[in-house]
Amino acid sequence: MKTKGKIGVSTQDLFPIIKKFLYSDHEIFLRELVSNAVDATQKLKTLASTGEFKGGTDNLRVTVKADPKAGTLTISDNGIGMTAEEVDKYINQIAFSGAEEFMKKYKDNAQAIIGHFGLGFYSAFMVSDKVEIVTRSYKEDAPAVRWSCTGTTDFTMEEAERAERGTDVILHLSKEEKEFSEEERVEWLLRKYCRFLPVEIVCGKEKEWKDGAYHDTDRDLIINDTHPAWTRKPSELKAEDYEKFYHDLYPAAADPLFHIHLNVDYPFTLTGILYFPKINSRLELQKNKIQLYSNQVYVTDSVEGIVPDYLTLLHGVIDSPDIPLNVSRSYLQSDRNVKKISAHITKKVADSIEGLFKNERADFEKKWDDLKIFIQYGMLTDEKFAERAEKFYLLKNTDKKYYGLEEYVNAIKEAQTDKDKKTVFLYAQAADDQYAYIQAAKAKGYDVLIMDGSLETPFINFLEQKHSDWRFVRVDSEPADRLIPKDADKQLTWTAEEQKRMRGLFDTQLPKTGGMYHVELQAMGEAAEPVLVARSEYMRRMKEMAEINPEMSFYGQMGDQLNLVVNTDHRLVKAILERAGKALDGQLTPLQAKIADLQKQKKEIEDLSKDLKEADKPASDKDRIDELQKQIAAVEKEERELLGRYAADDKTIGQLIDLALLSNGLLKGEALHAFLKRSVDLMK
Ligand code: ADP
Repeated sequence: MKTKGKIGVSTQDLFPIIKKFLYSDHEIFLRELVSNAVDATQKLKTLASTGEFKGGTDNLRVTVKADPKAGTLTISDNGIGMTAEEVDKYINQIAFSGAEEFMKKYKDNAQAIIGHFGLGFYSAFMVSDKVEIVTRSYKEDAPAVRWSCTGTTDFTMEEAERAERGTDVILHLSKEEKEFSEEERVEWLLRKYCRFLPVEIVCGKEKEWKDGAYHDTDRDLIINDTHPAWTRKPSELKAEDYEKFYHDLYPAAADPLFHIHLNVDYPFTLTGILYFPKINSRLELQKNKIQLYSNQVYVTDSVEGIVPDYLTLLHGVIDSPDIPLNVSRSYLQSDRNVKKISAHITKKVADSIEGLFKNERADFEKKWDDLKIFIQYGMLTDEKFAERAEKFYLLKNTDKKYYGLEEYVNAIKEAQTDKDKKTVFLYAQAADDQYAYIQAAKAKGYDVLIMDGSLETPFINFLEQKHSDWRFVRVDSEPADRLIPKDADKQLTWTAEEQKRMRGLFDTQLPKTGGMYHVELQAMGEAAEPVLVARSEYMRRMKEMAEINPEMSFYGQMGDQLNLVVNTDHRLVKAILERAGKALDGQLTPLQAKIADLQKQKKEIEDLSKDLKEADKPASDKDRIDELQKQIAAVEKEERELLGRYAADDKTIGQLIDLALLSNGLLKGEALHAFLKRSVDLMK
């Protein structure tokens, strides 16, 4: 007997919504239908285990058959099947029970509707003009039923023939969706969504290459691995099994660094394997993503918001039936289970890295350079993780020795505590470029870290914020003597006049491009370099942060701030002063006297009215002071020009400046050429 009826949803909006709004994601229909088929077989297993079903459950499987000629796709299973009453209950009524009100409320928001209910069986209408179900229940005596619907709210139901228990869902594909009747396309989709389903999924036959073409064999093509590694007990698996599974997931990737097998059953169920990948390029990060499964059904590979941000850099699989399948992303992110899962994963990851640190230190150190970027990113973005990671974070020094943070502080504390009781961490970002500075620091008994990753600057800022008694100083930001100030700076013994001359001699010879230079005189001891370039730690870091953070781009536009530090204790420097004195005394002394005289006159006038308020000072005095100031400036200019002309001829000055620039990679192009030429000349 044939019956007709209306699907138990009175709104007419259902089918248009399914067709129209889900268009972009329409391929998920296959996942939905295969999942239903798998569920039907799993239910039969459950019934068998309780004794309600007496037959065997060994040959349970799902078959997907594409028929391009007929333009159909059929998903068949030998699961529990449905009686006529069950079709009525589950397909006609229940699918959207309670949906009506919700649909009215959200009729303009398809995403919310889908997010709320999931589409399940009805997603078949995304691609079909007509859908038929032919099903026969496992219950003896229940006749088979054929249900048919053409994408309106009307359906028909009648008795049918089906030899065995189970269900066929037959899709009569609409014209635009005929691709889903092509075996290759279907196979591709099954491999994407159904690769690890727990029941065999058959799609056509295995192929064999023969006589220049592929031919079907008589072996069924099973597209899935029903027992993927993550569903097995860690104790059953060897290191090779984990690696093999990794390469199954990401055939082109290099061997992973290590894995974490997740296995939780309370307060939620979660299994999975996460791998720390070896990253050779940023591209790989984008390509090989963590895959999210729900009971072995593929959900998505965009896990942002589901796992903590830094873990999205990991690879592998997470499977949790507590992650709802068909819901929108924003819904997923606010889901309480999902949040708990995220916190739990962080804990597990921290646990297992800490385990490596404690128990397999040598191996951990070997992997550290590749691991570091993940750990730093994690610490910068996840407070909980940062707390844990402080215990296993490794610092590496320029001798390639590794230390935990606490170990390191203990090792350097004695030699590297400054006058403000701060522990000073010295670091280099490029061992070769900063070689001279590293050597100078080591000569003072300091240890130098190598911090050459792409996240070091924000990471250093982060550590300094957390530990107010820690300070990071790059080895080239100060002369070695001042890297870790122990007490007040050593006083210069030079007279003011000598200092002025020396500044003038070097000032006038500074490069005019490539940064803002400032000459500084320092008594650094006879053995230290005569001249060196130091970069302000603060400005350099600001500029580095500006590269990462567009809000700070202001710093990025500023030139480099460089100090040219002249060592007044060095014999070459002393010799320059002496030579300049001999050559220039005759001309400089009268200029000096002139300046002294002008300054005296100026002071006298200033003293006359020094007790008066600014407004009461006689205008004539002010004019006179201005006039004297101008004269002083003019003589000083003359003095500078004299020093400049002399310094330009004194090859040692230019040579010392260039050597300092050269050891910082700052000497380039024409300047470098001139330096080389001058060096040869000096050898004559
Ligand atoms: P959901 O799977 O979320 O319950 P569906 O719309 O996909 O929603 O399916 C509704 C119901 O129809 C299922 O719960 C199940 O009882 C029944 N069903 C669907 N497909 C099958 C099948 N292949 N075999 C047996 N029962 C099925």
